[in-house]
Amino acid sequence: MPMVRTTDGYLVPWDKNRIVEQLHEETQLAKIMFGLDPMNGGYAGKIADEIERRIRMMKPKFVSGPLVREVVNNLLLEWSEEVPEFEIYRNVLTRVGAPVYDAFQIDSGSGWEAKENANLQPNPETIHKKKADRLSKEEYLLLLPPELATAHHQGDIHIHTLEYFGSRPFCQDWDLRYFLYYGLLPDGTGFRSSVAGPAKQPEVAILHSVKVLAAGQTNFSGGQGFMYYTMFLAPFMRGLSYDEVKQLAQMMFYELTQTYVTRGGQLVFSNIQLPMGVPDIWQDVPVVMRGKVGPDVYGNYEDEVQTFFRAVTEVAYEGDYWGKPFNFPKNENYLSPEFFKPEYDDLWMLVHKSVAKFGAPYFDNMLPPYRGYGKGISCYQCCAYQFAATPESDPAFEEKLYFEDGQHFSMGGWQVVSINMPRLAYRANGDYDKLLAAARENMRLAVEVFKVKKQWMDRVRENNMIPFATQQPRDPRTGRKAPPAVDFSELVYVIGVVGINEMVQFFTGSQLHESEDAVRLALRLLLDMEKYRRGLEMQTGMKVMLARTPAESTAQTFAIADLVSPKYRRYAKEMVKGDLEQAAALAKGKRDLPVYYTNGTHTYVGARIPLGKKIDIEHKFFPILSGGNIFHVWLGEAAADPEALYKLTQRIARNSQIGYFSYTKDLTICSKCQTTSSGLLDACPSCGSTEVRWWSRITGYYTDVTGWNEGKRQELKDRYRISV
Ligand SMILES: [Zn+2]
Repeated sequence: MPMVRTTDGYLVPWDKNRIVEQLHEETQLAKIMFGLDPMNGGYAGKIADEIERRIRMMKPKFVSGPLVREVVNNLLLEWSEEVPEFEIYRNVLTRVGAPVYDAFQIDSGSGWEAKENANLQPNPETIHKKKADRLSKEEYLLLLPPELATAHHQGDIHIHTLEYFGSRPFCQDWDLRYFLYYGLLPDGTGFRSSVAGPAKQPEVAILHSVKVLAAGQTNFSGGQGFMYYTMFLAPFMRGLSYDEVKQLAQMMFYELTQTYVTRGGQLVFSNIQLPMGVPDIWQDVPVVMRGKVGPDVYGNYEDEVQTFFRAVTEVAYEGDYWGKPFNFPKNENYLSPEFFKPEYDDLWMLVHKSVAKFGAPYFDNMLPPYRGYGKGISCYQCCAYQFAATPESDPAFEEKLYFEDGQHFSMGGWQVVSINMPRLAYRANGDYDKLLAAARENMRLAVEVFKVKKQWMDRVRENNMIPFATQQPRDPRTGRKAPPAVDFSELVYVIGVVGINEMVQFFTGSQLHESEDAVRLALRLLLDMEKYRRGLEMQTGMKVMLARTPAESTAQTFAIADLVSPKYRRYAKEMVKGDLEQAAALAKGKRDLPVYYTNGTHTYVGARIPLGKKIDIEHKFFPILSGGNIFHVWLGEAAADPEALYKLTQRIARNSQIGYFSYTKDLTICSKCQTTSSGLLDACPSCGSTEVRWWSRITGYYTDVTGWNEGKRQELKDRYRISV
């Protein structure tokens, strides 16, 4: 028998008992992940004998550990026809990683993965992350029940941020008061980083807020945000001049957009909710600052909230040193009844001046009845996921509101799984019952994925692997441990829909903007899905929500999955949006193509319809998609009028059910003279240089178009823009 080169670099004599031992040891994982007994000695012995026979026939000079493993895995697959559990054993025994060629592609910054997430910039950290992502994704897929992994591979569903599936939850909206009371332990334990007491100075409070999000990002894969940012920090602004407050706001923007540190060299995906005054529900709530609660109340800081809001908005309006907009944090302007009064007009005009210039901020609209405003708290965060807490939904609501014994709000998401909606229509072939059955089947698959996620996350918490989230600092006053920073019982599982427009187009023959029937079908199905969702919650005890998912790459992934599928290709060719001439390249294995399905419940981006009609169609879906949605107004090149924009904001807020919206203006930034101009231009209007970069909103944030995948670039070209 040949010598064996082991993975750790030694040359050792062949010993078939090593195979038996290893089979027994490694298939313990089948017990942990699938509840399947480890391989018994009888099977392992038979396999080792057969492997020895096969290797002998190959007559190699020596063999490597990985080669022996491959031969074992092949044998397991062969024999799985008779012993089905061998497929699972093979999944836990195989290797994960990448061919050298693929790894080299990542080193060169090319290959499909280069553009999966436009927030990633090519740099050494990104290269490292991409390689790690590859390995992690393979591992997590292999350790999912094969039915679920297949559904993801085939493009029935998409498991988002799969690279982090087993290591962290998705997104989190933080209550800044926790850190203003307990201070900051960036590592969650205080033993690997320095420990800071509660901020005493305004600068420190701002810096702590930034570091909370950065530390949070190391424990979560998605957006990191703060609720009531302007209000919780306002008490620190008392006695400061406006210039001093503005300087603080500027520091916050620069800290968040220059700290290129998280998740393989990215910026923190950050967002801050910005009330412009003190909402009614907080008027009598004691202020938390400098490690103390009260006796002062937030209601006494109306002026400071307004001042800080003005400063944040002005800095956003001015942009960075080059005059381009800050891409983070996402500013979520808080639209609630209290602030639709003449005394706030001045601040709203400032907001809309900024919209007219850059289109940048978001509007978190509390006015529609389904937001339950006044009864609780609610926010949109990350890529437009909605989270809420009310006294009905949360028995500890009052204690959290008043920060009793450190109880605080904590909201966010565990995991997102999207459903390929057009494919459901291809399968239903015009039969509504079949359509609904297929939708339910995919929702069930999503929930099965969530159950596995829960197992992983239970283990992550038990092993103390997300210490920033689970931290419980001690209260120096009482000596008691704080409640954990993140309340895991408040994290939700999100089922997302992609391509409702193409689903109804295939089913009814017209797109959402083309007929009432199309809209009715979409509403009917989503309402039925919503009913089924409630049933799933009852059955599983999990918090599950329906949402439109940002689908930054999923809108393209699903379209391509259908275009390459022998079963769905002929239908998909008629439905997929974008440049289908390019679809021929699919056969050559090219995967980054300018094709896509429409996001969520949106109308086709290129639909030439008046804004009023677009609002009228899309707002109907907001109350159903309680997990989140967004409405986009694509602005044209012409200079927008702030006053007209403000009127439009009021119209959307008061007369529609749209809970979250934004205006997007495309920008061209010149790399020669650094001028920022409106529109997607080939040359800089100021100096004529063609060295320009385009900026626009990809799904839920602004970024350099260079990083976009071909599907989203095509969508950018197809967008129908309006003038306001
Ligand atoms: Zn220029």
